[in-house]
Amino acid sequence: MVEDTTAVAPRTRIVNGTVVTLDDTDAVVVGGTVVLDGDLISYAGPSEGAPGPGPGDKVIDAAGKAVLPGLVDLHYHTAIAKGWSDHLPLWEYLDTLWYPAIRALDDDAAYWAALASYAESVKCGVTTVNDMYRRLEALARAAEEIGVRAVLSNDIADPEHGLDSLDDTRAAHAVAHGVGDGRIEVGVGIEWLPMASEGLLRDARALADELGAKFHIHLNESMTEVDNSLARFGRRPTEVAYDCGVLGPDCVAAHCVWLSDREIGLMADTGTHISHNPISNAKLANGVARLPEMLAAGINVGLGHDAAESSNTRDMFQVMKVASILHRAVRQDASLGQPADILRMATVNGGRALGHHTGRLAPGWKADVILVDLSGPMFVPLKTGHKEQLYSHLVFAANGSCVDTTIIDGKVVMAGRVLTTVDEELVCAKANEAFSAVLGRMVVPEKSARTA
Ligand SMILES: [Zn+2]
Repeated sequence: MVEDTTAVAPRTRIVNGTVVTLDDTDAVVVGGTVVLDGDLISYAGPSEGAPGPGPGDKVIDAAGKAVLPGLVDLHYHTAIAKGWSDHLPLWEYLDTLWYPAIRALDDDAAYWAALASYAESVKCGVTTVNDMYRRLEALARAAEEIGVRAVLSNDIADPEHGLDSLDDTRAAHAVAHGVGDGRIEVGVGIEWLPMASEGLLRDARALADELGAKFHIHLNESMTEVDNSLARFGRRPTEVAYDCGVLGPDCVAAHCVWLSDREIGLMADTGTHISHNPISNAKLANGVARLPEMLAAGINVGLGHDAAESSNTRDMFQVMKVASILHRAVRQDASLGQPADILRMATVNGGRALGHHTGRLAPGWKADVILVDLSGPMFVPLKTGHKEQLYSHLVFAANGSCVDTTIIDGKVVMAGRVLTTVDEELVCAKANEAFSAVLGRMVVPEKSARTA
């Protein structure tokens, strides 16, 4: 293991940086200071207004760097099999790779796959993951160890699908909810409607209410899913979710590509949050979500990468760029997806969707902070202090390799692009071994049930 630098200093002072607050005033302060008191931000602004240094303060020199809130990946799956069989059509891929692989997971494979997934995310400036996957106790161990903030939920489906049950979530909640100083939560996750009955949806909502847990569900991802819902329930997916009480301000609905006007209204009326996952939707050929209409309806929209099997990268800078340019292209409207709005979607909107006080640099907000290196050609030219140019670079020019330091809950989990909590080389080697083991255990049907 590498040197443990994660002990929380009494106070951490980040000095000399370009502080991008994303607060109500949208202030960007050149040569500013951010002060972290334990797990909270106590100051963000001009250095002359900062509280004086105290004994034992840890000082991080952010000269040449931007200081930003950490990114929130609002729809996430730990991934075991990136780049494998992804030449197949979606249904065939799901039936012959995705579901067989997640059925073949054991705790060891889930743990190392989660560590490798979280490692890439942390290295790209992600400080929160809303991870729907299996074997949550193993995931919680991985999240606790690497230091990421995580909301974990199961792939709950009707029993015949051989995935997770409400009891799995109840058991994981009892063991893992609130660990890591409250950084790790266990919520209720529904895989998706083609694998869920109305009874299961109602029971899942009841469990979420009982536990006070967050809800995470895929909705209206593909036209095939909408057709399946119409055939089985006589209603569209979001209408079924509404009727079963699933929607609400504690619910994150992922994808929502094929929403009718009525369904957009249901999302808005119930205060449901949406994770927009444009790279996954594009790669899987599921279409382009009606983002401008969602925003016009007042829905809180965050961003997600979905899974490395479907988007192949956990780099939220790439997700931000596509979340802007995709809608410009299909609507032929370059006023869409302005960088400031996109940055908020990837930070404060995602935090709000999860009920977290994250995504802003302001007193009282969580000390989830990243330092972005502005010194290389990626950020040239840059007129010092020019907010719009900096925002443009962050959304359109940058990729995750620009992130130099990642701080979560006041702890430095990456410094100088080196993970401080885990041995990256070991994690990658073990995740490769886990992938091979899962491949060896997979039971693959001869033909996809839906394409047979
Ligand atoms: Zn997903």
